[in-house]
Amino acid sequence: MFTLLARSAECDARRRNSWKAVAAFAGGLGIWATHFVAMLAYRGAVVMAFDPLLTALSSVIVVLGLWGALRLPGGGGIVRSQATALISTAAIAAMHYIGMQATRAAAQIHYNAEPVILGIITTDLLLGAAFLFFERLTGWGRVWWPAMLTFLGVCVLHFSGMSATSFIPDSSLPKVTVGGLGRIWLIDAVSIVAGAVTIMTMVAVVIDRYLTDLKGFAEATLEGVAIVREGRIVEVNSAFAQLVGTTEKALIGANPDNYLLLADGLPTDMTRNMPVEAASRDNPNLHIFELAVRTIEYRGRPCQVLALRDLTAQKEAQRQVSHLALHDALTDLPNRTLFKEQLDHAMAWAARTRNPVAILALDLDRFKAVNDLFGHAEGDRVLKAVADILQRCVRGVDTVARIGGDEFVILQLGGMQPDGARLLSERIFKTFKEEMNVAVDPVAVGTSIGVAISSQDGHDGETLRHAADIALYRAKSAGRGVAAFYDPEMDREARERRQLETDLRHAISRNQLHLAYQPLVNAVNGVCSGYEALLRWSHPDRGEVLPDSFIPIAEETGSIIALGEWVLREACLTAAQWEPHLSIAVNVSPVQFRLANLAEMVAKVLAETNLAPIRLQLEITETALMKDRMITLGTLYKLKRLGVSIVMDDFGTGYSSLSNLQSFPFDKIKIDRSFISTMEGGGSARAIVRAIVGLGRGLNLPVVAEGVETEAQHKMVIEEGCTEAQGYLFGRPGSMMVIASKTFAEAG
Ligand code: C2E
Ligand code: CA
Ligand code: CA
Repeated sequence: MFTLLARSAECDARRRNSWKAVAAFAGGLGIWATHFVAMLAYRGAVVMAFDPLLTALSSVIVVLGLWGALRLPGGGGIVRSQATALISTAAIAAMHYIGMQATRAAAQIHYNAEPVILGIITTDLLLGAAFLFFERLTGWGRVWWPAMLTFLGVCVLHFSGMSATSFIPDSSLPKVTVGGLGRIWLIDAVSIVAGAVTIMTMVAVVIDRYLTDLKGFAEATLEGVAIVREGRIVEVNSAFAQLVGTTEKALIGANPDNYLLLADGLPTDMTRNMPVEAASRDNPNLHIFELAVRTIEYRGRPCQVLALRDLTAQKEAQRQVSHLALHDALTDLPNRTLFKEQLDHAMAWAARTRNPVAILALDLDRFKAVNDLFGHAEGDRVLKAVADILQRCVRGVDTVARIGGDEFVILQLGGMQPDGARLLSERIFKTFKEEMNVAVDPVAVGTSIGVAISSQDGHDGETLRHAADIALYRAKSAGRGVAAFYDPEMDREARERRQLETDLRHAISRNQLHLAYQPLVNAVNGVCSGYEALLRWSHPDRGEVLPDSFIPIAEETGSIIALGEWVLREACLTAAQWEPHLSIAVNVSPVQFRLANLAEMVAKVLAETNLAPIRLQLEITETALMKDRMITLGTLYKLKRLGVSIVMDDFGTGYSSLSNLQSFPFDKIKIDRSFISTMEGGGSARAIVRAIVGLGRGLNLPVVAEGVETEAQHKMVIEEGCTEAQGYLFGRPGSMMVIASKTFAEAG
C-alpha cells in the first residue's frame, strides 16, 4: 500500500487519485486478509463458521474507509496524517467488528469494552505514526517504517479485540460443524485476496519498469540528458556523465552547478529560451558545450531537463572556417582581407602614437616562369619557402601577408624610418641570396620591393598601399632584385603610364599607328627576301613612341589584341602590293596566342587581303609556349596548316630550350640581336651564336641573325653559318613609300 502511495505522490493530480484508489484497495484487502488468516488460526471452545455476505461487507468497508482516508485533502502536515490515521483506524475497527458479526457459532459473543477501546487507541497512535513517517521519511524508510507500524497496528487491534471477546456456548443456537462451507469459502477468499495483493505489487513493478524505460529512452540519445528537481539531479544518462567527466552514480543527487560553468553565469537549472554555452568546471578549456534547459513535468513535479551537447568539434570547425577566410590556404599567412584590417589598425595606432608605419610591397621575380616551367606544385613549394623567409626576416610585431599569386606585403610597425624598412629590405635580399641561389637552382626566385612610409607617403592605409605599389613598379623596371622607396615623382610616372594606356586604346581609331618595314637579306649575297613589319605610334604630344615602351602596356591591358589584328591586316595589305617573291614577317604577342580564334583571324585576314599564305611569316617568342602549351601548340599547327610560316624570334634570351624547338616544326630561328651586337667583343656571345646555328642545323632549320650593324658582324655571321640577316647594315625600318621606291630602284 505504501509503495503504491509513494508512486501516487509522483503523479499528476488525476492519476494520483487513481493510484490512491489502487493503494486503498491493496491495503484494505491486505488488512482484511491479515484479519481473517488470524481468525482461521483461532482455536476456541466453540467451532466457528462465517457468513459470506457480512464477511464480504467487512472487506468493502475497510477498502472504502482507507480510500476515503487516503484522499483527504491538505498538505503533508501532521493534522492530515492524524486524520488519515483516525479514519483508517475507524475503518479497520469497523471491518473487525463487522467481521466478528459474520461468525457463526453455537455461542453468545460478549465484548469486554476496556481492551477494545485501548486497542483502538493504540492502533490509531501506531497508524498516526505510520502516516507521519510516510510524509516525513525518504527512500526505503518511507515505505518500510509505515508498513511495519501499520502491520503492528492491525495486529494490535485484532488481538486486543480477540482477547476482549468471550464466546459463551449456547446449545439453543444451531450447531456449526468444523470444515463447514463457511470455512472453506473463507480459505478461497483469502487466497483470492492474497492473489489480488500480488497483482497490485506486480502493477507497481510494471510502473517501475515504465520509469526505467524513460531512462532507456534518455540513453538512446547522444546528447547528455539530466533531470533536475529542486537543484538536484534525479535522473541522468551516461552521455551526460561522460561529457562532464564523471559517473552517473556520482551525479545522482548532486547539484549540476558543481559540474558545469555557464557562459551567462546563471544557475544551471534556470530555464532559458536560448541554449547557453557551457564548459566543464574542472577542465574549462577541454570542451565547449551547449546547454538547453526546459521545464517539464516529471513524476508529477516540475523538473528541469538539461540537454547537454558537445560543441567542441563544431567550434573548432567554425574557428577553422574563419581562419581560412582570413588566411591564405597555401602559406597560412594573413590574406588581403585580414591585411587590410591590420593596416587600418596600424594606421590608427600610428596617428595616435606618432609612430611611423612602413609598408613593403613585394613581387617575386621569375616566379611566373618557375610556375609555368616546373608546374604548380613546384610553384606552391616556392611560395611556401618565400613565406617562410619573409617571416623569419620580420620582427614579431610586423605582419607578413600574401595578397595575390606572387604578391606579398609586409607591415612594419614603429622603429626609425626609413632606416627600418631599408634594413628589413637588406635582410630579405640577403636571405633570398642565401637560400635561393638563382645561379644554381633553376626554381630559385628573387624579389623586388617597393616601400612606402607613413605619414610622409600617405595618411591612410589605402594611399600608403598605393604608394608602395608604385614604388614596387619602379623597383621592377629598375632591373628587379632591388628596393625602391616611394617618391612623388613616381606617382607622376604612374599617372603618365595610365594616360598612355588610355591613349593607346584610341590609337587605332585616331589613325596614330603605322608600320615600318625592315628588310631581311640573304646573309651571303645580300639579296632582299622580305620585310619585317614593326609597329610605330605617332603620339600627338610625345611624337614617335617606340614599341618597347608601349607593347608591354598593350599586353597588360589587352589592347594588343586589337593592335595585333590591325598590324596583321595592314602588313598583309601592303605586302600584297609587293612582288610575289617578297615575304612579310609579323610579330605576334604571346597574349594573342591565348585567344582560341587566332588561326581563324589570320585565315580571315589572308583571305581579305588576298595574300598568299606562303608569303606570311609569324614571329613568336618562347614565352608564348610557356603558358597553356597544348593550346598554343594546337594554334600553331592550325596556322601551319594554313600554309603560314612560323619563326622562333629572339632565340637565346628566354628559356632557349631545345624541347621548345623540338615540340613544333618551326620554319626559322632568329638569334636575338643582343648576341650579334656583343659578338665582336670576344666573350661567349659568338659561342652561343655558333651553338644556336648548330642546333638549327641539327633540326634542319635556317638561322637568321638580327641586329647586324657592322661589316665585322656581317662577316662573323656568315662564318658561323647564318643563312639570313637583318639589321641597320642592310636597312633601317622604314616607311612603305621608301621601300617601294627602293624596290623600284633595284628593279630598275
Ligand atoms: P623584334 O621583333 O626583335 O624586332 C626587331 C627590333 O630590332 C626592332 O625594334 C628593330 O628596329 C630593331 N633593329 C633592327 N635592326 C637593328 C640593328 O641593327 N640594331 C639595333 N640595335 N636594333 C635593330 P623595334 O621596332 O623598336 O621593335 C622592338 C620590339 O617590339 C620588336 O622586337 C618586337 O618584339 C616588338 N614589336 C614591334 N612591332 C610589333 C608588332 O607589330 N606586334 C608585336 N606583338 N610586337 C611588335
Ligand atoms: Ca621580330
Ligand atoms: Ca627579334
